[in-house]
Amino acid sequence: MSLIKLEKSIIGCRKCDRLVDFREKVAREKRKSYKEWDYWGKAVPGYGNPSAKFMILGLAPAAHGGNRTGRVFTGDKSADFLFRCLHHVGMASQPNSDHRDDGLELEGYITASVKCVPPGDKPTAEEKENCEPFLSQEFYILKHLKVVLGLGKVGFDACLRFVRKTHPIKMKDYKFGHGVRYDLPNGLVLFGAFHPSPRNVNTGRLNFEMMTDFLKTVKQEIN
Ligand code: SF4
Repeated sequence: MSLIKLEKSIIGCRKCDRLVDFREKVAREKRKSYKEWDYWGKAVPGYGNPSAKFMILGLAPAAHGGNRTGRVFTGDKSADFLFRCLHHVGMASQPNSDHRDDGLELEGYITASVKCVPPGDKPTAEEKENCEPFLSQEFYILKHLKVVLGLGKVGFDACLRFVRKTHPIKMKDYKFGHGVRYDLPNGLVLFGAFHPSPRNVNTGRLNFEMMTDFLKTVKQEIN
């Protein structure tokens, strides 16, 4: 399957009733500051370079970010922080990710483990499981992948669950933390990083130096 075909399947997916209701409700009701926007309101596929050597793997689209713009990590505070850092270390063509036609180009590939926005940013175990085949397809299609960067524990664990399908690993042997690095039995290297959410950034749990230092390490691994 190609990335374009996969993208179509993701966008058309309505498997999780709760998430379909929620993404459409958010798109109908809108945030006041975006009331002129025609919200996307559907599942949000990953995007980037089909020959990517690294994948950034987050949790899910944000209600007024990816669910509004139709591109993951686009149009919200998490995206502002992340792309300022990625651009600073030369991993993105520009420091901003605002909308689908903003000209952003990525050397890598960026996606989320759950493709629809969940209420409270908390997908259920069943919803995570429902969406897993899409992430597996992304892993199979990206043949040059060497490194996965799990942004937050949910993204980190989603990579491990994919590896567990073919290799008998124990999740508890791979502890999540900012800057952790693991060689996985399928040949991938998995890094963990704190999610660039406003909560983490505003409380100082994650700052620009921490993230850019970390991305420089990831970059060395890829090159
Ligand atoms: S979360 Fe995934 S499986 Fe569920 S409706 Fe969205 S795209 Fe489909």
